[in-house]
Amino acid sequence: MNCPYCGHYDSKVIDSRDVNEGIRRRRQCLDCGSRFTTYERLQPATLFVVKKDQRREEFSRDKLLIGIRKACEKRPLPTGAVDRLVDDIEAELYQQGKAEIPSTAIGDMVMARLKKLDNIAYIRFASVYRDFTDITALKHEVDTLLSAEAEVSQPTSQLPLLPTEQPVGVPRSHRRRRK
Ligand SMILES: [Zn+2]
Repeated sequence: MNCPYCGHYDSKVIDSRDVNEGIRRRRQCLDCGSRFTTYERLQPATLFVVKKDQRREEFSRDKLLIGIRKACEKRPLPTGAVDRLVDDIEAELYQQGKAEIPSTAIGDMVMARLKKLDNIAYIRFASVYRDFTDITALKHEVDTLLSAEAEVSQPTSQLPLLPTEQPVGVPRSHRRRRK
């Protein structure tokens, strides 16, 4: 644990005591002398995912990775982007230190990250995860993305949702409708 004041890597423990299911340590930075407190807690060995029907299933990084890879299939994403996204989610999950997490919470974490990464992957994932029952719900999601994209005047890292080359025979005015 680096010193929160100066960033020095080393500190000494000046006091330590047990607190509910963990240890509280009072530390002093060996460089600037500042004092700070850390808590150490046992990481639950297994994280369980609570499904919508209340069944519990052991959290699987691979399973999460497969789902996201599928959504990102053939999208021109930077190498390692999907793995980083999964790493990020896994780290956040374990950081929460809970023994159980609802599957919906994980789904939301994926959605939030895919939305920033790639619109098509986001829609693909959403269509499975949100279980769009009809085309209207899907259209609503796409419309939301399009209007958000239209508001952004500066070019972003985001890939365009619609191809720039238009299909032959479609009148220009019909291509992209905006509200
Ligand atoms: Zn320090």
